[in-house]
Amino acid sequence: MTKAATEVRRLESYLGGAWRKGAGDGVPLLDAATGVPVAGIDSSGLDFAGALAYGRDRGGAALRRLSFHDRAAMLKALGQALTAQKEEFYALSAATGATRADGWIDIEGGIGTLMSYAAKGRRELPNTRVLVDGDVEPLAKDGSFAGQHILTPLQGAAIHINAFNFPCWGMLEKLAPTLLAGVPAIVKPASQTAYLTELMVRRIIESGILPEGALQLVCGSIGDLLDHVDGQDIVTFTGSAATGQKLKAHPAIVHNATRFTMEADSLNAAILGLDAGPGTEEFDLFVKEVAREMTVKAGQKCTAIRRVIAPRRHVDALVSTLRDRLARTPVGNPADEAARMGPLASLGQREEVRARIGELAAEAEIVAGDPANPTIVSGDAAAGAFLNPILLYCDRPDAARAVHAVEAFGPVATVMPYDEVDEAVSLARRGSGSLVASVFTDDPAFAVDVVTGLAPFHGRIMIGNRTSAKTATGHGSPLPVLVHGGPGRAGGGEELGGLRSVAHYMQRTAVQGAPALLSAVTGRWIQGAPVRDDAIHPFRKSLAELKVGDRLVTAKRTVTLEDVEHFAHFTGDIFYAHMDEEAAKANPFFDGRVAHGYLIVSFAAGLFVDPAPGPVLANYGVDNLRFMTPVYPGDTLQVELTCKEINPRSGADHGEVRWDCRVTNQKGATAAHYDVLTMVAKTWP
Ligand code: NDP
Repeated sequence: MTKAATEVRRLESYLGGAWRKGAGDGVPLLDAATGVPVAGIDSSGLDFAGALAYGRDRGGAALRRLSFHDRAAMLKALGQALTAQKEEFYALSAATGATRADGWIDIEGGIGTLMSYAAKGRRELPNTRVLVDGDVEPLAKDGSFAGQHILTPLQGAAIHINAFNFPCWGMLEKLAPTLLAGVPAIVKPASQTAYLTELMVRRIIESGILPEGALQLVCGSIGDLLDHVDGQDIVTFTGSAATGQKLKAHPAIVHNATRFTMEADSLNAAILGLDAGPGTEEFDLFVKEVAREMTVKAGQKCTAIRRVIAPRRHVDALVSTLRDRLARTPVGNPADEAARMGPLASLGQREEVRARIGELAAEAEIVAGDPANPTIVSGDAAAGAFLNPILLYCDRPDAARAVHAVEAFGPVATVMPYDEVDEAVSLARRGSGSLVASVFTDDPAFAVDVVTGLAPFHGRIMIGNRTSAKTATGHGSPLPVLVHGGPGRAGGGEELGGLRSVAHYMQRTAVQGAPALLSAVTGRWIQGAPVRDDAIHPFRKSLAELKVGDRLVTAKRTVTLEDVEHFAHFTGDIFYAHMDEEAAKANPFFDGRVAHGYLIVSFAAGLFVDPAPGPVLANYGVDNLRFMTPVYPGDTLQVELTCKEINPRSGADHGEVRWDCRVTNQKGATAAHYDVLTMVAKTWP
């Protein structure tokens, strides 16, 4: 142990409801730009089995008592609390080598992800604890037996093993869907930058927003933690493929079929279109994007562009433009405002990247940058982990191996030429599965060929062109609402993607039974479940009085030819099927003129509405509208409106009510079926 380690603060782990120090002296963690010790790290002697049990029993139980809306509100409050303290995070972030702009991605990008999940949870999830997944599957002709998929939170804990490059975002992007699902987390940041994660976790715990046990932190090795996982736990890993593969094969994970998600190396490609030569907007955008991806976070981004695939005839222009642009990126201490690119996270990491550049240089020539002699504007050249952007050129990429297989996790990319679109696609595929690819083209045919050729090998593909030049979110930015992860070499995992990732922390179960019992389980009325017809119109009931299954069977109304004529001329919908007997008859679906579908829906509203002011505040849409049997003049309509789902909104004086609306004709055949969506007051008057 060095003397320095004794002088700096030792990081603590938050386990079992308390901050705890490891038994050892602590391995020093150094400032990336100056080499000055920032903290010491050690987790030896801590009780990991106890922590896992604490998370499951204490945190899991508390989270599961909350509804999705409660958990979403918690994420929002957390996002607000962290935003209020963001400057403290920025200050420490510089020690990781991050410039202010790099820190923004990590800190505010992470908080933004929390906020995005908070909003989605409130808007797109019901205020329940069980999620209904998909439609009811009828399993008996007489309707007495059906199936329904549901999702419930796993009863274990999520162990998040994260990479060094995003100490905040890496934690928060996994934490948001985990907590929303109702599952506690144990976060293990990569040691190199764990001091920033530790600070953020301290602020989270101090805020008191999360129930105790919902979040624990390990600073240092996870010891024997994985020995204790079972089939209700989930491990998510971000880092090198070698570590990921080792952990995935851990006996307890294999034995218990513990869910394991991996996000590993990725040789992401960016393709310049055949149409996008020098002088086009796409060429300029491409240059800007490649340079940005190489320099943001000093290229230490799992999504960064590593392979630059360009038409052979434009390669010279591309290389010289990129070289100029990269030369204009000042490298230095992130604390210095003049520096646009900081150092790598550590000297060790720089050695690693230099070794990888050596492997690449066996197949490609270095055309920009000198890996051995950094040129910097500030920082300590000897103690800081500086490296200027390194651009390589590989003339025969089809015959090369390393350029498609070796990930230099730093400001490093290799340009490779192609002649035809198929060649560009096959070169990009040589990455064996990546997180993201981008294509810069204004030619739809080229975009179609590239996207269809690459989609099975990628989790995300961005098409860049002049139209989206100002609004595109960029090749390298994972977004909370879009999938982040990739097949094959990228690890085979999937994160984010909006509510898709919440399901990763839940168990999907097919439940079969009689409608009344299925309805009791899900809290949602289904066809065949009990209904309640009483004297009070359901639109006169507030949320306090309304019950799932409350039903209105309306009066009847006969549709006349005059109604159809009137509706047609009133709305302008004079489509022949409503107006021309001969032409309608010739249509394979009709026996003559039919009523408009929207006339049926309008008459249905007229039949089920209760006109006086009351607890129903607004109709905000219909879902799944289907017209099932044609309605002819002379047919008589009737509506059955049944309260299907009640969703009181937290923190508001109203909630959403979903009604099953079935419109039948005089023979009992269903003319139209849909869900009516309304806002209803919690109390009335
Ligand atoms: P590692 O795979 O070494 O580490 C990733 C995480 O796993 C860290 O939290 C690390 O903790 C932990 N870990 C390592 N060994 C074990 C173990 N035996 N048991 C439990 N946890 C373990 O990757 P690095 O962070 O060192 O990065 C190395 C390379 O990974 C990079 O050069 C890059 O190629 C790739 N990488 C890929 C990323 C991606 O998102 N795809 C992101 C970052 C890196 P600790 O730090 O304490 O060892």
